[in-house]
Amino acid sequence: APRGTPILEVAGLHKTFGGLTAVNNIAFSVAAGEIVGLIGPNGAGKSTTFNLLTGVTAPSAGSVRFAGQPLIGLPARTIARLGIARTFQHVKLVASMSVIENVAIGAHLRGHASALDGLLRLDRAEEARLFAEAARQLARVGLADAADRPATSLALGQQRIVEIARALCLDPVLLLLDEPAAGLRHNEKAELATLLRRLREEGVAILLVEHDMDFVMNLTDRLVVMDFGTKLAEGPAETVRNDPAVIEAYLGS
Ligand code: ADP
Ligand code: MG
Repeated sequence: APRGTPILEVAGLHKTFGGLTAVNNIAFSVAAGEIVGLIGPNGAGKSTTFNLLTGVTAPSAGSVRFAGQPLIGLPARTIARLGIARTFQHVKLVASMSVIENVAIGAHLRGHASALDGLLRLDRAEEARLFAEAARQLARVGLADAADRPATSLALGQQRIVEIARALCLDPVLLLLDEPAAGLRHNEKAELATLLRRLREEGVAILLVEHDMDFVMNLTDRLVVMDFGTKLAEGPAETVRNDPAVIEAYLGS
């Protein structure tokens, strides 16, 4: 889709867990080729929103359209194949596997429902295809040299980028990143930001949850601010950072 065309359209999205309203009737959109920051205090409902968008959690109400197609009710693997890939708040690499094996899991998920057990029962041709795709994505993110190293021997910043390479195997139109810069050193954050800008140039839209405001302000085109499940503000980063309600709820502390 041309840059600026809405690809993700969220309306009336709502999720309760028992008596707790985690996501309260929120609406926002992400356009093609845009980096949008989803920010807000702990417990605001950001990760739950990601789970609702990716089919991990079923909403109580609301609609999500991706490239015009309704997503609610579709299984997570179908949503992934339609072009929404994600990383998780905590690094989820398999410690006993090499970097390229961890990325190949993503290539495998593209075609199949289960990951790890399936990877052990592939025929040679399929295995070669998955590892070729994994190698292609490692080269894309600049980690080709690390392919055969144990995944958890890498620095945290590189592990995060391995997770992004795994997500890229799905050939996503939209990438959801949950706190990708958390715990990273200054130079690792700069490298991550450079990679994300390059992916944007390649046409990947990105929705990211992040607490590091310098990182967010430098990188994002637009912000969506959540607090107690509701959307507090949405707009260009410069506008949102000066919004009194946002300063009061989140940026002031
Ligand atoms: P954030 O990512 O913005 O920190 P979350 O989406 O993780 O916030 O959580 C929003 C609220 O929903 C929190 O109060 C959290 O405890 C609650 N919550 C999240 N997931 C569940 C769940 N599976 N069951 C019950 N409560 C949950
Ligand atoms: Mg979270």
